[in-house]
Amino acid sequence: MARTDAIVLGAGIIGTSIALHLAKRGLSVALIDRGGPGEQTSYGNTGVIEGNTLFPHAFPSKLSDLLRVALKQAPEANYHLGELLWFTPYLLGYRKNTQLAGSIAFAEAMRPLFSRSVAEHEALMAESNATRYLRRDGWIKLYRSEEGFESTTRERELAQKLGLPHRVLDTEETRALEPSLNPVFRRAVHWPAAASVSNPLAVTRAYVARFGALGGVVLKGDARTLHRADGNWRVDTDEGAIDAKEVVLALGPFAPEVLEPLGIKLPLAFKRGYHRHYRPVGNAGLTRPVVDVANGYAITPMEQGIRLTTGAEFARPSSPPTPVQFDRLLPAARGLFPLGEQAEPTTWMGSRPCFADSMPVIGRAPGQSRLWLAYGHAHWGLTLGPVTGRLVADMVTGVTPFCDPKPYAAERFAA
Ligand SMILES: Cc1cc2nc3c(=O)[nH]c(=O)nc-3n(C[C@H](O)[C@H](O)[C@H](O)COP(=O)(O)OP(=O)(O)OC[C@H]3O[C@@H](n4cnc5c(N)ncnc54)[C@H](O)[C@@H]3O)c2cc1C
Repeated sequence: MARTDAIVLGAGIIGTSIALHLAKRGLSVALIDRGGPGEQTSYGNTGVIEGNTLFPHAFPSKLSDLLRVALKQAPEANYHLGELLWFTPYLLGYRKNTQLAGSIAFAEAMRPLFSRSVAEHEALMAESNATRYLRRDGWIKLYRSEEGFESTTRERELAQKLGLPHRVLDTEETRALEPSLNPVFRRAVHWPAAASVSNPLAVTRAYVARFGALGGVVLKGDARTLHRADGNWRVDTDEGAIDAKEVVLALGPFAPEVLEPLGIKLPLAFKRGYHRHYRPVGNAGLTRPVVDVANGYAITPMEQGIRLTTGAEFARPSSPPTPVQFDRLLPAARGLFPLGEQAEPTTWMGSRPCFADSMPVIGRAPGQSRLWLAYGHAHWGLTLGPVTGRLVADMVTGVTPFCDPKPYAAERFAA
């Protein structure tokens, strides 16, 4: 039976970054996943490293917007009627936490993580030979109406106060940056200090390779076999059982499958999202991610083509895929950018793991010694992977954490 210092469960961008940071501190680490590293939620995202994020994603405040969602006409959101009751406590909490006071609390609590997110990726990319996937030209959010743009005033004022670079653009200024966009929008905000990647899977794989080069071991195994044995934690893998003093659980949307049998029930919900890849028509091109805020989708240049990602679908990961949002948003997306044929016939689906306050849980598991949690990164798991890795490594190795981790503690749900 193998013995390691730490086991990390889940090889998405979060678990991989944690395993790499622990290995860099000299620990012997096993990274365990039931599938291939980076192939679940971390595979299909929009690829934005959103260091500029201040406020959580807004909950619709206007009755007309809520009605559009309720009547399943909104391009930005969908839901499964049969699961609405299950989602209700989450939705009520989410609504409350996205009012102004909650948004400001989120901005303050999350700033230490967001402000380091681009630099932490850059550092890992440099040592993992992955810098070729990084673009440093920010992202653009488009607004089709003045009203939509004005709704961002408070966030932009806060950005100004904090010195976060951003540039308000009119239609033609935006088209000077992205000439293939059609002039169907009125305003845009360019966030130049954000970054993006051209292949999120390749980035996770590069971090895994770096972890391996530092002596880390990647194993196939089922995290649901986690149990106590001989004073340690034990997990069964294809190579046999493995023991460790410390376990970090980074299973993203799948975390409850392992935590609930251990008696740890935290209120995780899910915002599912889909993507398809398209070929651009003719010579059309895109250099950075662009979000059509009113319609809740993004287009991003990826190695596979233009990736069109959808907004939120309130349904549990195991429910059947229902990619109906494409029908609702494609006319708007094709009007904005000349999307041609689909580059591949498939539609990808993933589940953003979300708590109602939009913050992850990072820290000790309640009631279980030497079990650490790092999941629930919602819309920002790619962004926050490496900085989460640093924070968890600080905590596991007993170093003073680089920031106060209290806002991310699981105990916040006990109140
Ligand atoms: C459409 C969409 C767009 C997005 N865009 C962005 C973006 O632009 N920027 C950004 O920062 N974030 C974005 N996100 C969010 C981001 O993708 C997620 O927050 C992030 O991928 C979560 O990573 P994770 O490592 O926690 O989870 P995952 O990537 O899901 O990793 C969990 C791992 O656990 C493994 N696992 C599960 N159960 C078991 C088990 N029983 N045993 C062993 N292994 C198990 C899985 O196989 C998986 O590899 C987006 C998400 C979606 C859906």
